[in-house]
Amino acid sequence: MPLHLYNTLSGQLEPLTPRDGQPLGIYACGPTVYDYGHIGNFRTFVHVDILRRFLRLQNVPLRHVMNITDVDDKIIRNATAAGVSIHDYTPKFERAFQEDLHTLRIEQPEMLVRATDHIPEMVALIETLVQRGAAYRGEDGSYYFRIASFPGYGKLSKKDLSGMEDGARVDVDEYDKDSARDFALWKAARAGEQKWEASIGAGRPGWHIECSAMAMRYLGESFDLHAGGEDLMFPHHENEIAQSESATGKTFARHWMHVRFLLVEGKKMSKSLGNFFTLRDLLLRGYKSSAIRFLLASVPYRNQLNFTFDGLTESTQAVERLRTFAQRLRAGGFAEGSNAALTAATETAGKNFIAAMEDDLNTAEARAAIFELVRAANTAADHNELRSGDVQPMLAVLAQFDAVFSVLEDHDAEAARFAMEWAEREGRLDAAATAALASYALSDAEIDTMVAERNAARAARNFARADVLRQDLAAKGILIEDGKDGVRWRRK
Ligand code: AMP
Ligand code: ZN
Repeated sequence: MPLHLYNTLSGQLEPLTPRDGQPLGIYACGPTVYDYGHIGNFRTFVHVDILRRFLRLQNVPLRHVMNITDVDDKIIRNATAAGVSIHDYTPKFERAFQEDLHTLRIEQPEMLVRATDHIPEMVALIETLVQRGAAYRGEDGSYYFRIASFPGYGKLSKKDLSGMEDGARVDVDEYDKDSARDFALWKAARAGEQKWEASIGAGRPGWHIECSAMAMRYLGESFDLHAGGEDLMFPHHENEIAQSESATGKTFARHWMHVRFLLVEGKKMSKSLGNFFTLRDLLLRGYKSSAIRFLLASVPYRNQLNFTFDGLTESTQAVERLRTFAQRLRAGGFAEGSNAALTAATETAGKNFIAAMEDDLNTAEARAAIFELVRAANTAADHNELRSGDVQPMLAVLAQFDAVFSVLEDHDAEAARFAMEWAEREGRLDAAATAALASYALSDAEIDTMVAERNAARAARNFARADVLRQDLAAKGILIEDGKDGVRWRRK
């Protein structure tokens, strides 16, 4: 069965399949590089990545385009405050975005494209809209989209536009839900602001036209899927549809996916509310990148996710449990043959995982299917009932799971080391962050090796060496506890 994905435009679950043997075309709105992204932003990017990875698992060829918005109101505001040009301001945050993608194991889309590299495409689109009577020039030389010219305006967000004021305009890129107004396509040059010379006059593009121009440039006038966070539905995506369809007379994106918000105490996590954490904030507190990814991914994209530190701790334990299970399987030592009940449970888990993902990317059910298998297999192993013939099929189901969730392989130490270097450069490496990161900069496997070395030293009655290893581990935030059933370690 193909993936059935909810389509905001039709209000229904619909199969998502490419047309005419072409790769599936996806346009996902990317970051505005005016600051570090917060984990609410990354919830959206993680779920687009889940979609992408699941389609790849199903062997669907992809052409996934993501934009980088490197000119907009917020960037101009921040660059002006910093006293630099936008070209000097944005590279740092674009780089940080790339690093954060890497840390969260978010795959690179086929194309990552910058708005400022596509000004001619935007200008051409605005010219077409003017020719078609869908755009007009204001007194100051700015251009606006005339929403009264597009009868389909509101079809995505299902807004009732009856109270709309004809000809009322809005100049800012982001505006509230009640103001369906003619929006700026091109903002006339203002003193001290970045501008481009163009046939329509000197100025800079509005945010909405950027995505229309880049999506059509790389995916054609009509394409398969457009994605973004739920806040983009109106006005951003509604405006993209109006601009693109007015220019081409064709359906812009056939399918629309909107990832619902990450909340903090019931409110949207956002810069403007000040209730946000960046990925780096959480790494500095000692949370693992895998746990953050798993938390963001575990609640299906169509449900809002309430962020809590308890949730993050639970996620950390869940990843640990999966990794311990995979290690247990790989360590082997099981009796020959296979266990019929486990063979069946493995098959069921694999099927349930795929069925859950095909059902509108139900990551919660997909995760539950795998944990059910982990429970059954651990119980069997505890009773010496796991057989060597069950190992490979179970590892195959885990691999399928991890092709989508990507938390099993341990990249946490690398992420912690990266965060430490970054924090040091930025002057944010206080004592608490140093202690938290020190423990995570060692992978579990590295700690196991050091602990084993200490055990060996003790067994050889080389207590001096054993003490040095214990102190070394303690300095890195790892505590060793000698119990009656062996030696355990934990992070401080
Ligand atoms: P921005 O960098 O502000 O353009 O946002 C990048 C992406 O993050 C967009 O797709 C937004 O819809 C999304 N986004 C912003 N805040 C949140 C949030 N609290 N939860 C989920 N997605 C969000
Ligand atoms: Zn966009």
